[in-house]
Amino acid sequence: MTHAGVRATGSAMGSAFLIGAGGLGVAAAEALALGGVARLTAADPDEVALSNLHRQACYTLDDVGRPKAERLGAYLASLRSDLVFTPLPLRLKSVEALVAAAAGHDILLDGSDNAATRFAANDAALALGIPLVHGAALGLRGQVMTILPGITACLRCLFESPPEAEGPVCRDAGVLGPLAGEIGWRMGLEGIKLLRGEGRGLPSVGRMTTVDLNRGRRRVVEVGRRPDCLCQNTGS
Ligand SMILES: [Zn+2]
Repeated sequence: MTHAGVRATGSAMGSAFLIGAGGLGVAAAEALALGGVARLTAADPDEVALSNLHRQACYTLDDVGRPKAERLGAYLASLRSDLVFTPLPLRLKSVEALVAAAAGHDILLDGSDNAATRFAANDAALALGIPLVHGAALGLRGQVMTILPGITACLRCLFESPPEAEGPVCRDAGVLGPLAGEIGWRMGLEGIKLLRGEGRGLPSVGRMTTVDLNRGRRRVVEVGRRPDCLCQNTGS
């Protein structure tokens, strides 16, 4: 049976590499699968915990204690029998590891929960020359930015390097489920449109979209390329 998302686009499209099968990752993966991505790889070293279930809607009580990447694959298989899914139960924190794992994919999506991985994802996307959809969420606030190497600003145009001390992470500070869903689905939308070749018109290409569900605010901030950023040596 052909899925409606595939029917809507004519055929299954391209490949995506997803870092993190947590709150952002599972929402992004679901959006990508329903939107017709042909091949998806998801890397996450963790197991499903009871405390995850409020913000990681694809997992159930039966999944607790089992690998997230593998259980995400089982969920997506229930949506799309033709999706080629590869689970990677690995923590990919270095640029080299990410480049090796994500090579051969069309786009990279980062739904990780720490600054070190976010910057490694940024640098891996620049090295591979493939688009990166960055997402982050904490409490009731989140952000999405899509980076096109050689065309748009990257994370290091905004922040030269990761903070010396890792800030609060969702494991400690929490993420409200609806926020994880909104940011993850926005990431999925950006990914689908990139795979459809509509990248330059995306809301978050070269812009940081911020969401504050406490105040009901959504903002889009233009991000300029920093002349001395390493991304200036990438692409065109
Ligand atoms: Zn840059």
